[in-house]
Amino acid sequence: MRLTFTFVSLCFVVAACAQTSDNPVRTVENSAGQVVNTTEVESVAASDPRAKPESPLVLLRYSFGEVANDDSQVPDVTLVFNRDVYQGNKGLLPAGVAKRSLEPFISLWNSVHSPVENIEITDWRIKGWGSPVITVDLPRRLAPNMSYHLTIEGGALVDSDGRKFEGIQDPSVVMFSTALRPLTNETDLGRSCPGFPSTVKSRFVDDTVSLALHAIGEDTPQAASDFGYKESWLAMRPDMNWRWSRGIEHSWVHEFHRLPLDLDRLTHSWLLPESETVHRIGVDVELQLINSDGQLCSVVLFEDLERSDARYPTEVPNLPGAGQLPDYERYASFIEEGLPDPDVQSVMIATSWWEDYGPPFEDGREGYYLDQPIEKSVVDGTPMKVALYGVINEHIIQDFADAFEILAVIAPSLQAGFASTPEEVTLSVHFIDNCGDESYLGADLYADLGCENKGFASTVSRNQPFFGKSYGSIQVAAADWQRRERELLSWDKPYPSWYQMRTRQTVFHEFGHILGLSHNRCVHSSVRAPNSHKQHLGWSAEDLKGIAAIHDVRVPQGSTESGNDYDTDLNMWKPDGAYGNGRLAFGPEVEDLGQIFGLLESPDWDRMQSDRQSMCEVDLSGTFWDRLAHKYEEKYQSDPRYADWYQRQQEWSSWPDCYEAERIKDPRACS
Ligand SMILES: [Zn+2]
Repeated sequence: MRLTFTFVSLCFVVAACAQTSDNPVRTVENSAGQVVNTTEVESVAASDPRAKPESPLVLLRYSFGEVANDDSQVPDVTLVFNRDVYQGNKGLLPAGVAKRSLEPFISLWNSVHSPVENIEITDWRIKGWGSPVITVDLPRRLAPNMSYHLTIEGGALVDSDGRKFEGIQDPSVVMFSTALRPLTNETDLGRSCPGFPSTVKSRFVDDTVSLALHAIGEDTPQAASDFGYKESWLAMRPDMNWRWSRGIEHSWVHEFHRLPLDLDRLTHSWLLPESETVHRIGVDVELQLINSDGQLCSVVLFEDLERSDARYPTEVPNLPGAGQLPDYERYASFIEEGLPDPDVQSVMIATSWWEDYGPPFEDGREGYYLDQPIEKSVVDGTPMKVALYGVINEHIIQDFADAFEILAVIAPSLQAGFASTPEEVTLSVHFIDNCGDESYLGADLYADLGCENKGFASTVSRNQPFFGKSYGSIQVAAADWQRRERELLSWDKPYPSWYQMRTRQTVFHEFGHILGLSHNRCVHSSVRAPNSHKQHLGWSAEDLKGIAAIHDVRVPQGSTESGNDYDTDLNMWKPDGAYGNGRLAFGPEVEDLGQIFGLLESPDWDRMQSDRQSMCEVDLSGTFWDRLAHKYEEKYQSDPRYADWYQRQQEWSSWPDCYEAERIKDPRACS
């Protein structure tokens, strides 16, 4: 059993930082004797416009409330306007397409310009509507010793006549700082870990955790072996609070580390590992011990430690070398030929999702196609710039370069390519190390890292800070669909290039999801689920058609929170969503696309809409899409890495389209 004991005080002192000498900071001592700086800031308005009814709606001042000594939360911020304030509406999406319009945000940012939280204007944490005084709860625990600021989107607030507040974008207008956390600790191990009679004294200075064990009440350090401990480690993991509230595009997957300690040493120190990404995240550091009975005990020494700038990179890692950059002219002849307009098949692939529910339903169904609204949540014109984090090789760089070259043909508006600076990154791809077995991380961290669930794509949810700004993230170690492939592998022949194929196909499968493709049952598709053994070395002709349709500039933005919010009993989306917040989907659906591309009158429309699997049965031989799919595959014709794959491709026609185990389940997709 893992025992933890939190003994770091989580209290915060919050100081509103005055920006000019006109903004006096008053220092107040609260009832607990803790110093809290609060402010009455006469700030934004040059002069008080209260007298003029036609004057703009402006912020007069703001202040932060006091925080209790034992409270881990940040106090409310109070915003005082020159007249009564009401909720505004961003009205982002074109009428007739929007299924649910987007609410504007009040956002909290940290001083390294990472967004911390977006609070929708309709959120219960914003109070005081109909009055000039608005309060905003900032409930997330924040990092110590850091400045934060609020931004307010233009139009988020209006007055009673509908005049819009122009918003706040300047970081210096509404800001505050958190205080330093105490960074020395002493804990009784026996209290946290029964049967461990010793004390640990620890401190955190200069990014280094140091500690020593002591007999109870003694000042002299003793070696762990003196207490009979058999093994010991220091473990670092990303702080849970940050991980779920902030997430930062899953950069936290790189923040798991464990250092074995020498049992005979009197003192120990650990310079905390450098972060893989530029995204700041608090980390917890624990001491783990195994006693003479083999019992594991763990105590948290520090929670939510913030490393200094020196432990963060200033450059994107794994930048491609000169010879590894994508050649955007590779398919110049296809660009010249021009992209064919989306047809009915394109639209069906772009908006259909094959959902496989495992055990059969009473009517014998084991899965079916659902209508999936378009997933394209990033603001139009935002370049898709990819950073590859973690342990990668030249083949992985090549996989992405190949994908960018193809996207330059089928989705040029994305401007897809490698990011060259951290600020540019809009799609984070994490190749996760130490996930093969528990040997490096230990069972506890290994389980916490979630190594069992890797190979997935995440787009940014509407309530997350990067919504609209980031394409999300991809994590790769061993994809779920690849494990299924292994299980389903029922033929005799060994498949020596399976490992290589796994890496490449995982990239194209997950990248396909990021680009908006959902699972289907098309035999060559990279997003077929369960996957097929007749997949291309990248996106199939069907995939290319779907991606091109989704990223056609005529298709407006859209977003879906793909939680478990499909009601399988009623065979419909849950009106309240999986989390009771309403189904978080908006944007164009199948018929909207039919309208946009003028396809509703096509003879194929009704047939393919009512029989979705028929979208996988169109012969695309010789078409633009088929020629493009084969063109990039040719690149690897003489590459020994894929020799086995090419040999198998020759035999495709003699095999059924699916694995034996699938045949009963879905005979139509197995012809
Ligand atoms: Zn998938």
